[in-house]
Amino acid sequence: MKKILLIATGGTIASVQTEKGMMPGLDGEGLIEHVPALREICHIDTLELMKLDSTNIQPEHWVKMARTVEDQYDKYDGFVISHGTDTMAFTSSALYYMLENLNKPVIITGSQLSLTEEGSDAPDNLITAFTAAAKGRPGVYLAFYGRLIQGNTVKKLHTEAFYAFKSINAPEVAELKDGVLKFNPEYDKYLEENPHPSTGDKLRIRDKMDTRVVVVDLVPGYKNEYIRALVDAGCRGMVLNLFGSGGIPGVESPGNLLPAIDYAISKGVKIVGATQCINDGVHMDRYEVGITALKHGVISGGMLTSEAMVARLMLELGEK
Ligand code: ASP
Repeated sequence: MKKILLIATGGTIASVQTEKGMMPGLDGEGLIEHVPALREICHIDTLELMKLDSTNIQPEHWVKMARTVEDQYDKYDGFVISHGTDTMAFTSSALYYMLENLNKPVIITGSQLSLTEEGSDAPDNLITAFTAAAKGRPGVYLAFYGRLIQGNTVKKLHTEAFYAFKSINAPEVAELKDGVLKFNPEYDKYLEENPHPSTGDKLRIRDKMDTRVVVVDLVPGYKNEYIRALVDAGCRGMVLNLFGSGGIPGVESPGNLLPAIDYAISKGVKIVGATQCINDGVHMDRYEVGITALKHGVISGGMLTSEAMVARLMLELGEK
C-alpha cells in the first residue's frame, strides 16, 4: 500500500458548529475516522499543521505547507492537504510554483459542507484526493467534485454548489468514475505546450516572496490617485484586472490612467494585466488600448488566473 501523509490545515471540511459560528474543529485523525473507506485506498498518517478558516491563511502558511512536504518528502509516496475552499485557489497556485522539481503528488482538497454535516461532499472529495495521491502522478492538484485540476489553473466559482471549482484555460487533469481515476488525454496535450515549470530530480522549495502585491479591478471612473496611493503605500506588484481582452483607458478617455501607470512603473512596480472575464485570458496585443498599455510597460498575464499571477509575482519579486 502507498503511504500518504494528510496535512490538515482547517477549513469547512474540518469545521464544527460553535457559539461564534462554524470554525475548524476536527484534526486530521478526526477527518480520516469519519471516512473508513480511505484506509482501503492507502496507508494514511496525519499531521496537524494548523486549524484555520482559509480566510486567515497567509503567504507564511504556504511556506509552512511547502516546508512540511519537504521535511516529510522521503517518508511518503504522496501528500493530501485539507484546506478551506475560500482561498484554496491561491494556496494551490502558490504551491504549484513553490514546489520545484516535485516528483510526487500533492493534492489539495476541502469541501463545501463540513464532514460532520449530513449529505456533505467531504467524503467524496477525500476519496478523490487520496485516490489521486495513491495513483502517484507528480504535481500539485486540487481534488474536488470527483475531478482533479492543475494547481495554478484553479478558480472558485461557486460559494455553495458542490462543483465549486473550475479549471481555467486548461483541461481538467482527471475524473474519478466508479472508483477509478481516469486521466484526460486532452490534459496530456495541454502539458506538451504548457509543461510544469520544473523537471530536475531534487525537490527545491521557492519561499522567497515579496507579499506587497495587490489585485486591482478596474471600473469605469477609476482614478489615477488610487493607483498612486497604492504605489506610495509600498505596493511592489499589481495585478490589474482589465476589461475584456485587456486595455487601459488612455488619452481618448477623461479617465486616462496612463499617468498613474507611468508613475507606478517609474517607481519599479511590476504591473501585470489580467482580465475580468473568467475564461480565455488577456489579449493585450489586439486593441489600441491594450497595445498602448504594453508600450507603457504593463506585462500581459496571458492565460493565467489572477490567483496564479499573484503567486508568481510574489515569488518573482521576492527572488529579485
Ligand atoms: N470559510 C471556509 C474556508 O475557506 C470555507 C470552506 O472551507 O469551504 O476555510
